[in-house]
Amino acid sequence: MTNIFDQSAVTTAGIRRDHFLIFGAPAIEDSEIQEVLATMASGWLGTGPKVMRFENDFKAYKGARYAVAVNSCTAALHLSMLAASLEPGDEVITTPLTFCATVNAIIHAGATPVLADVNPVTMNIDPMQVEARITPKTKAIVPVHFAGRPCDMDAIGEIADRYNLKVIEDCAHAVETEYKGRKAGTMGEFGCFSFYVTKNITTGEGGMILTRRQEDADRLKILALHGMSKDAWQRFGDEGYKHYQVVEAGFKYNMMDLQAAIGIHQLQRVTPYWQRRQEIWQLYNQAFADLPISLPAAPEPDTVHGYHLYTILIDKTKTGISRDAFLKAIHSQNIGVGVHYLSIPEQPYYQQKFGWQPEDYPNAMRIGRQTVSLPLSAKLTDADVEDVIAAVKRCL
Ligand SMILES: *Cc1c(COP(=O)(O)O)cnc(C)c1O
Repeated sequence: MTNIFDQSAVTTAGIRRDHFLIFGAPAIEDSEIQEVLATMASGWLGTGPKVMRFENDFKAYKGARYAVAVNSCTAALHLSMLAASLEPGDEVITTPLTFCATVNAIIHAGATPVLADVNPVTMNIDPMQVEARITPKTKAIVPVHFAGRPCDMDAIGEIADRYNLKVIEDCAHAVETEYKGRKAGTMGEFGCFSFYVTKNITTGEGGMILTRRQEDADRLKILALHGMSKDAWQRFGDEGYKHYQVVEAGFKYNMMDLQAAIGIHQLQRVTPYWQRRQEIWQLYNQAFADLPISLPAAPEPDTVHGYHLYTILIDKTKTGISRDAFLKAIHSQNIGVGVHYLSIPEQPYYQQKFGWQPEDYPNAMRIGRQTVSLPLSAKLTDADVEDVIAAVKRCL
């Protein structure tokens, strides 16, 4: 390995960037800036016509029946679990290779999370592991389309049918993802999306739930706004004062027009952004083909990969540098990177609460200990991509 702190060693491979490349920085353009300004000027900042338009636009993009905008994917997951009528003691199976929010939402809904290890190649939940974890208490499966790659939804759907389980898709990485002509978020009872800053399209903070049944959409809307009856949303209109009724103890999860103002325009660019990330993905594949690291598996046939994360695996026995040393080295090259994710059983809370150990989910454990996510935002310029490539090569 070259010594990255030795300036003479770096001159042949180019020089360190002069400013830090922020991981996951969103591409924000003039149309959403103008829409936010117009929203500010209108005085209508909260939930209103722009949220309704964003819901309708997203629904149309997905070909879904109902869409409910909320203020995060975490909220979307939480409400979907509640709308799925989970009860205390019910078990919900999900992946150990996910963000903590997936598991926390299960816990907040009063259910018990159960983990099923991932396939080492796709990094998605392994349907055989799911089936092995089913008990009489199992009520739902939460597949996460990791990095934008669709889970094996035929196998998951078949298991769900056989055991009468609900499927709640965590689509935080998967706005563009498709599986055999079906769009992510429309295959399960509920599909939950994130518009957090680092995601494929953003509203700053924000989320969306897709569902097929009117009664589920109605319940989600009630839960998202304090448990106030459906008519309460009309409060946001100008039709004169109407009393509202509180029909259950709900939450404060509604999206604001200020957020939807960003989302409406981000959604219009979802495909060009996706194409740009695909281009960067291929540039990385070419540049790293000869390095002693693992690259992401190619997308499966008859699927659309969302290209949310480009994850390499650093195995010290092959590279001579550990993953954590690599993280430090590339950071010192002014390149921001991520880790998606240390497996859930590595986290102390879950170890204490559920007795989970990383070794019990060996595929997720190994990936979590070796993985590094390189920048993959549509905002990256060709020069940024070249900087990332040069920095990776210098660090190895
Ligand atoms: C980002 C993310 C979430 C949470 O999304 P928020 O909108 O930040 O609440 C949930 N699951 C996965 C897999 C994520 O990456």
